[in-house]
Amino acid sequence: MKKAKVLLCLAAVLSLLCSTVLAHELAKPVRWSIMVRNRYTMRVNYNQLSSNSPYRSAIGTAMSAWNNPSQSLKVQCFYDSSISTSTVDIVTVSSDNTWKNLGFDPSADAMTRLTDTNNYSFTSVQGATSSTGKIKYASVFVHPNDGRDMDDEQRQVTLAHEIGHCWGLGHAPYSTDSIMISPYLERIKCKLYSHDINDIRNFYGTP
Ligand SMILES: [Zn+2]
Repeated sequence: MKKAKVLLCLAAVLSLLCSTVLAHELAKPVRWSIMVRNRYTMRVNYNQLSSNSPYRSAIGTAMSAWNNPSQSLKVQCFYDSSISTSTVDIVTVSSDNTWKNLGFDPSADAMTRLTDTNNYSFTSVQGATSSTGKIKYASVFVHPNDGRDMDDEQRQVTLAHEIGHCWGLGHAPYSTDSIMISPYLERIKCKLYSHDINDIRNFYGTP
């Protein structure tokens, strides 16, 4: 089953900004701040997905898209089984009501919340303006339906896209081949496109 859906978002307004900046920044550039062995590193935990969530089998592929050594990127993400040491937690929101109370778009499948070095958290493109610009923690919230109306590939793309937000990426223009376009288009696969690789190199440099 393939359908165009609102994938996720930091916020939909970003496309207005995209054409005026070099890479796809939020309202203020934000960067991941934790480095391990010369690479910016996310420790990703998904214990807080619901126990039968179909996202559980998608996360490995989503992380691999960012870790392909041939891309020569200065970022990496890996699984961390402990929520006490993880720096990115992927969480199923328990109910539609909670989703609404969090202020999330009912049509979105996932939302990323970034937390900076001052413990300030934000979920919108504009929210970045008040941040230190240095991100130390992120939560990826998935809708209570846990992506059950999507196929495997869409779930993988959804998580890979959210990881992109965790790195500080905003949305790419709709005409581009990029993991960072939103809403989802069928042509987008769970991999980084040259556009995404260039953005990450602009943000973080090369190893
Ligand atoms: Zn998005």
